[in-house]
Amino acid sequence: MPTFVMTEKCDGCKGQDKTACMHACPNDLMVLDKEKMKAYNRHPEYCWECLCCAKACAQQAMDLRGYADFVPMGATCTPLRGSDNIMWTIRFRNGMIKRFKFPIRTNEEGSAVPDGGFPADQDDLKSPALFTEPASLLLDEVPTPKK
Ligand code: SF4
Ligand code: SF4
Repeated sequence: MPTFVMTEKCDGCKGQDKTACMHACPNDLMVLDKEKMKAYNRHPEYCWECLCCAKACAQQAMDLRGYADFVPMGATCTPLRGSDNIMWTIRFRNGMIKRFKFPIRTNEEGSAVPDGGFPADQDDLKSPALFTEPASLLLDEVPTPKK
């Protein structure tokens, strides 16, 4: 379901030209009401539910209603992104609050090696293999269906 702004928490990213949620939304749905200094989703029906805006908001001002396979219907879910984890605060309909923290990386921020340290010698553009494969699969060759 689309995200929504909890206006009491939104500070309009302190009036920057482009707020964090505007910057994060791949569908340009988030806009800032400069008079009220509050952001809002101008077309909730077009929301992809990617949750980028909610994860980008430093004020935890964006909330969402999770699907029933994630949390019971009616619960709200608020993410708080850290440098190496994301913590979800779930508020259930009866008021109970639970928090779940998940790791989002295993190395230091800024230390990721784009090719993972594997030799990038794949230069055949017609090959189905990615550019570090088969080495990054720890194989001698990428398995393909035999004709
Ligand atoms: S990122 Fe958060 S605080 Fe900033 S404008 Fe959007 S909802 Fe408001
Ligand atoms: S959930 Fe994704 S598509 Fe929807 S408003 Fe947020 S960033 Fe945009």
